[in-house]
Amino acid sequence: MTRLLSAATIRTQVTLPLRFADGYTTPARAYTFDGLVDGREHLALALGDRTDPADRGDAGIPLVRPHSECLTGDVLGSQRCDCGPQLREGVERIADRGGYLLYLRQEGRGIGLYAKLDAYALQDAGLDTYDANVALGFAADERDYTVAAQMLHALGASHVALLSNNPDKAAQLGRLGITVVEQVPTGTHLSAANAGYLATKARRGAHTLTGHLIGG
Ligand SMILES: [Zn+2]
Repeated sequence: MTRLLSAATIRTQVTLPLRFADGYTTPARAYTFDGLVDGREHLALALGDRTDPADRGDAGIPLVRPHSECLTGDVLGSQRCDCGPQLREGVERIADRGGYLLYLRQEGRGIGLYAKLDAYALQDAGLDTYDANVALGFAADERDYTVAAQMLHALGASHVALLSNNPDKAAQLGRLGITVVEQVPTGTHLSAANAGYLATKARRGAHTLTGHLIGG
């Protein structure tokens, strides 16, 4: 069943030349929005052939990745999760094909930064990543993709190829009126510090870890 979605509109767009720690560079076009239902400042980054507004609409099905903010992983390079490498891979793969990276301000699977660090402390005491959230009074996964669907509708991208291993993202977007024509798996970014976390995601979150293995 498709939920009725209030419309968001594009507020501003501006060019951002991206450069990552490993030297990879790509131009991006950042979009901000009015009318996002949770009032937070989410961002859409147009990459590849979507960076030129004149190209929008005739560039085929965009590759889209909704990426949930992770200060520790994205910015600080924490190896307790795989968010940093997932973001880096996502940007390059979207830039190659053309599409959007949706940067969603929902830290720690939606529970916030401080609570995420509290959950890390519980994990150090033996709980897994899902049980730790529940012990803190949260759902195992509080992420919501309503604003992602709003942004895609505002960008005119109602049909997408979804770069994700998470079946919940495709299901939520489908209910919000976004047609996922293809689900493209991401790589698995394994390190000694995140092996347990990735195994838990696969077991508890029904993630598919079918992508190519990266790192070691
Ligand atoms: Zn993370």
